[in-house]
Amino acid sequence: MPDIQIGGLVSFTTIDYPGKLSCVLFLRGCPIRCAYCSNQHLITPGEGEYDADKVFNWLRDRVGKLEAVVFSGGEALMQGAATIDYIKRVRELGFKIGLHTNGFYPNLLADVSDYVDWIGLDYKAPRDKYESLVGNGTAYDLMSKSLDVWLKTGKDLEVRITCDPHFITKQDLLDIANDCASRGVHKIAIQKYIPHFESDENKTSDAARSQFFTDCDLRKTIDSMFESVTWRE
Ligand code: SF4
Repeated sequence: MPDIQIGGLVSFTTIDYPGKLSCVLFLRGCPIRCAYCSNQHLITPGEGEYDADKVFNWLRDRVGKLEAVVFSGGEALMQGAATIDYIKRVRELGFKIGLHTNGFYPNLLADVSDYVDWIGLDYKAPRDKYESLVGNGTAYDLMSKSLDVWLKTGKDLEVRITCDPHFITKQDLLDIANDCASRGVHKIAIQKYIPHFESDENKTSDAARSQFFTDCDLRKTIDSMFESVTWRE
């Protein structure tokens, strides 16, 4: 079995797995191309910058110091069986396992679900705008299926919506929140869009990026729909 290709590592974080001290492994490869991707150096598969065995030995030394290991990307499940095998080995060390995913691989998510304790799932836009945002016509349906797969496990989940004003209006955000609430999601995070790669003709204003966060009625409505709403500005 090939080693997983690890393109980045954050050795200590308090914000990537809810309530746990964790580290994050960024795996190479992503099947979609989000307009606002800030990890473009990770989206093409290629040699990992980190030796997977050395990282595993380092993780063994972190037992008792860290509580969780988060697999992120890129899209961690794009490496399929190699990722799942590595996750199983890391879990046997006693860590909680987190997974940040765009939901493109619902079958692999089902396969790995026994070994993952929590996921952060991207719900990037309403169905009719998904393809133009991510450059793939199947991504919405796959993400939606992943949401169902995970909800069926009964395990912890945060749905994440990044409010890129090129693709999302306040009504869209409300529609996504309604869809999540009606399907049984309890925790969502609403994330401010950060303009990493805007061309001059596509520039957004701070007011456009902040509109979701400054609208008190919108916030109150969405807050009332879930057990937990995190507004990440
Ligand atoms: S899913 Fe994440 S890594 Fe992949 S293109 Fe989108 S933002 Fe980038």
